[in-house]
Amino acid sequence: MRFLILSDIHANVTALDASLAAVQGRWERVFCLGDLVDYGPDPNEVTERVKALDPVIIRGNHDKAVAGITGLEDFNPVAQIAAQWTRQQLRPETLAYISQLPVGPTSAENVTLIHGSFHDEDEYVFVPGQAMGGLLDSPTEITFFGHTHYQGGFSYRAGHIGVIQLKPEPGPNFAALRLEPGTRYLLNPGSIGQPRDGDPRAAFAIADLDHSVVEFWRVPYDIAAVQGRMRDAGLPFPLVERIGAGR
Ligand code: ZN
Repeated sequence: MRFLILSDIHANVTALDASLAAVQGRWERVFCLGDLVDYGPDPNEVTERVKALDPVIIRGNHDKAVAGITGLEDFNPVAQIAAQWTRQQLRPETLAYISQLPVGPTSAENVTLIHGSFHDEDEYVFVPGQAMGGLLDSPTEITFFGHTHYQGGFSYRAGHIGVIQLKPEPGPNFAALRLEPGTRYLLNPGSIGQPRDGDPRAAFAIADLDHSVVEFWRVPYDIAAVQGRMRDAGLPFPLVERIGAGR
């Protein structure tokens, strides 16, 4: 089976729709790593879309903050403003869906899903030392994580950690990673709605485990349209700017 892996959509429905359109017919089941909402202008629309995909899903730190499960005190001032705006926009059915999202790790189909690190959904995994927990402790050889908004990840084999970095060609395109036997992987599909790895295109992955291949996708979308809706909504300028820069 082929899995579409989505993470950190962050209320950007234009990026989500462009991504889904680009890979129509290429997957059978959806895994979602959380952070459906916050930062972007479309929390209700994104939640509706994701719900309709019937995914295996876990929550992200922004989902739990917006749902009121945790407070906003750990967020920087810009993120606090966005989270408060998002809370005001949520329709009751959106809030109900966001509130019941389970905390990871969750395993299905020989894959484990986490939002941050294996042991802490709020912790960032940027460097190999931070990846060790997930690589060694996950119950499955392949684990997908989000939270950093950086596409790529880590591999582990016989005591050696590898860093996986990919650069899909321009346009809607993917770079393929061939999975080696006897190797453990901690892989980040990147962020649909707010990439931070220098490439503003929407990021996600498709895993074809029967053929041991993970495709890391980038898809261009109408960033200006989303920025226009963010300005109309009065969302903070740094958030408007960063989806254009991809940082
Ligand atoms: Zn996020």
